Amino acid sequence: MEDLLQQVLDLGKGNEYLDIRLEFFQNIVIKSINEEISKAFTYQKNGLGVRILSNGAWGFASTQDLTKDNLLKTVEIARKMAQIESNRTKTPIQLADIPISEDRVEVNCEIDFREITLEEKIKEILGWHKEIHVSDNIMRTIVDYATIAARKLFWSSEGTKIEFIRPIVNVNLGAVAKGSSGVRAYYQPWGGTTPDAGGTGGHEILGKNGDLTETCQTIGEKAMSLANAKPAPNLRNIPIVFDPAYMALLVHEIVGHPSEADRVLGWEAAWAGSTWWKGLSKDEGNPTKIGSEYVTIYNDPTIPNNFAYMLYDDEGTPCKRTTLINEGILTERMHSRETAFIMGVEPNGAMRANTYEYHPIIRQINVYWGTGDWKSDEIIEDTKEGVYLLGANIPSIDDQRFNWAISSQEGFLIKNGELTGQLYSCTATATTPAFLQSIDALAGDDQLLFWSGCGKGDPMQGGTVSNGGPTMRGIATLKGPGS
Ligand SMILES: [Zn+2]
Repeated sequence: MEDLLQQVLDLGKGNEYLDIRLEFFQNIVIKSINEEISKAFTYQKNGLGVRILSNGAWGFASTQDLTKDNLLKTVEIARKMAQIESNRTKTPIQLADIPISEDRVEVNCEIDFREITLEEKIKEILGWHKEIHVSDNIMRTIVDYATIAARKLFWSSEGTKIEFIRPIVNVNLGAVAKGSSGVRAYYQPWGGTTPDAGGTGGHEILGKNGDLTETCQTIGEKAMSLANAKPAPNLRNIPIVFDPAYMALLVHEIVGHPSEADRVLGWEAAWAGSTWWKGLSKDEGNPTKIGSEYVTIYNDPTIPNNFAYMLYDDEGTPCKRTTLINEGILTERMHSRETAFIMGVEPNGAMRANTYEYHPIIRQINVYWGTGDWKSDEIIEDTKEGVYLLGANIPSIDDQRFNWAISSQEGFLIKNGELTGQLYSCTATATTPAFLQSIDALAGDDQLLFWSGCGKGDPMQGGTVSNGGPTMRGIATLKGPGS
């Protein structure tokens, strides 16, 4: 492998900068409904992406053919693309400096899922279906299982050489039940994964040492209770308490994406949107308070086992915890080397490509809400009249993340500090600035991370993300079904 990477570096000599990502994937996907396997397949994917900076412009090309002749062609395509792009580039791209790293990162895998046979996996999956089926009123059980074994080598013309070996396991669980309110579905929070049903690591990270029994039973019980819940009412500007799973999608949409520096600069405006706080940031010399003291938000890819765990980004920049908002004041963005140079700050390791086939872009990785000084129970007890929303479902957000609406998996009315009737079809909606200013309680005892996917860019790139937070209270409007 080293010979191959050296060959590409040699072929690209004479350009301002060049980097290579050589990647190997071994993936398994098993989808199943009602104890029937609907899809089961494994696939391998290997290839190389090369990025060249020449005359102040980027060129990029990728290939699965790793023969010398084809590598020469691939480097030439990337160089030509940079040349063409440079003819229309008004401001030549410059890169902020990063330390040169030589490192090998291998995530520990106590129970290697590659050593579990397909038959054993299917047997386990069918067992999970049985556990979800807690009642005859469960009409459908859903178990989707996926693993990725990824190996990546990153080399740059500046001398950075990183190898990253990363196993990922992910189980999505769901149930559909019938009851007095009709037919209701319950999926893991945010249509993604609870902290005990996946992440970066081996089979042991599932449940208790690979045992998902309790999680599966909870899914079935939640679907059953929702099928007997009442429809959510419409309540304007009320105190809403959000659980950590709802917080995952909330922080992803209203803080994570707007904190990506390419959005702040308006580069993503035509595709994924921009940022309502563009022009208000510290980078323009104007530190701005955009939320209450309880709004402190971090991005930290280095937390072990998180779904998007990494210690270096796809430019070889060391990752670190970045404080995006500190007690309501805008502080940092998530950066590439290019945007860090433009804004005069240090790169913080937020460039990612889904695979070697794509040019890396700035992506939120593990954005989460910091903790406060309340206990989660106290927040409910302190709420005279309000609503408690658990689990996130579907987001609807405008391009600038100014208006947001996110539905929950379930909800409860709060009366005099106690949870009363269970609700289905709950959607909270607010404008982001007013909502962030309204937050008046944040727990310190139940912060959790959840896993899901995210899409960004053109061509669109998928990607694993982690998000989360503790229980929190703010003012928003509740909408029920059909409103
Ligand atoms: Zn996203």
